[in-house]
Amino acid sequence: MASDGAPLPLVGIGTDVHAFEEGRELWCAGLLWEGERYGLAGHSDGDVAAHAACDALFSAAGLGDLGAHFGTGRPEWSGASGVTLLAEAARIVRADGCRIGNVAIQVIGVRPKIGKRRDEAQSALSAAVGAPVSVSGTTTDGLGLTGRGEGLAALATALLSRR
Ligand code: MG
Repeated sequence: MASDGAPLPLVGIGTDVHAFEEGRELWCAGLLWEGERYGLAGHSDGDVAAHAACDALFSAAGLGDLGAHFGTGRPEWSGASGVTLLAEAARIVRADGCRIGNVAIQVIGVRPKIGKRRDEAQSALSAAVGAPVSVSGTTTDGLGLTGRGEGLAALATALLSRR
């Protein structure tokens, strides 16, 4: 609460990184990117954008993190798609009394080219969250694990308010 008693919004932050692996399907920002040589390693679909968004929602609500809700202690979620996890994260924060204002995601890496399918990605993720989700992309000028094409990273923020 602000000093005048008006409710303040709650901001959250999330980050995720997965390594590229040859011969896997590439799932990112709720979409299958056909024709890509590398997918993202992990026992899930490795959707860094969706996973970072989950963490941003939990962070804003003060409800821990993705590992606490969907990690090895919760085997029923193992193998779930990023979009499935994101929809469940949105349900959890709402069940805790939060309204979701928006989620903003930035994907960091050389491939895939987010801008080519931005509208599609935003639609898929907004449908999962039930609130506006924006998706942007950037590169790191050839530096670091994303610049060398070893993996893909994503950052996300979420804005919530409590009823
Ligand atoms: Mg992840």
